[in-house]
Amino acid sequence: MRFDILTIFPEFFGALPDQGILGHGVVSRALRTNLASAHIHDLRAFTHDRHRTVDDRPFGGGEGMVLKPQPIFEALEFLNLPSKSARQTIHPQREAVILLSAQGKRFTQSTARRLATLDRVVLLCGRYEGVDERVSQLFCDEELSIGDYVLSGGELAAAIVLDATVRLLPGVLGHADSSRYESFGEPDPPPSATTPGAPYLDSEMRASADSNNAQPPRSTNSSNGILDYPHYTRPADFLGLSIPDVLGNGDHLAIRRWRRQAALAKTLANRPDLLLTADLTDDDREYLATLGYEAPAE
Ligand code: SAM
Repeated sequence: MRFDILTIFPEFFGALPDQGILGHGVVSRALRTNLASAHIHDLRAFTHDRHRTVDDRPFGGGEGMVLKPQPIFEALEFLNLPSKSARQTIHPQREAVILLSAQGKRFTQSTARRLATLDRVVLLCGRYEGVDERVSQLFCDEELSIGDYVLSGGELAAAIVLDATVRLLPGVLGHADSSRYESFGEPDPPPSATTPGAPYLDSEMRASADSNNAQPPRSTNSSNGILDYPHYTRPADFLGLSIPDVLGNGDHLAIRRWRRQAALAKTLANRPDLLLTADLTDDDREYLATLGYEAPAE
């Protein structure tokens, strides 16, 4: 998958291969193993005046400056990305030109999942008061906002979209299912009614448990739209606070049950809105009721 980032601050993304967002962790690994490529383009390279001007005063008056459409148009032409209407007939649904904007639709894990299915994503970073509106009208497939606050530029937002999308590309994370077993994970297929412990098993575990009633092999369970469960590592006692006993007793089913319940409790405490759309089992609902939360009917 290819990313192109258009910005007036290319150094933001790291001047050397081992710097910035492109030079660290999962993103760096994805780039080094050619599962993704990222190309940073300086919008000032597409200007023609001595001062390499990318902005101008707003029509109608008011504060600040606005990014001009011409350098962006030329950068997109250089990238062989014609107008939105022309592009949609050439490569329908395989690429997206995205304007980062506080006025955009909210970027979520499900947006990242959708972008991860594309061949190419172009991220256009605004600055100042924003970008001439005709850029969005003519060239952008969508406008994305990373949250309800205003940043001073789109670079941080682009870095977030890049990171969240790259880690979902097949082969980038160690286990293909890793991204299901974390906050906002995709729902599992419905559990088989006959499988013991079904609500606490993911599909792989259920297949294994269904076929030979073996101890399920994995130690996580899919989040099904809620937050991840709390994680602990050594030491078992830290500053007088011990890990929950259940995590040390080797009973995998009890651990899964505890993790699911801890995830539900955390979601209720921090993001109760997620419970309105999460894929909840009867056991989940019963547990939430013990916490005083009545889950909405399915
Ligand atoms: N005048 C704009 C408004 O009120 O919506 C804010 C412009 S902001 C100072 C400059 C640039 O930062 C925007 O063009 C956009 O690219 C980026 N930006 C700011 N907040 C953002 C957000 N929540 N999500 C994505 N990009 C954002």
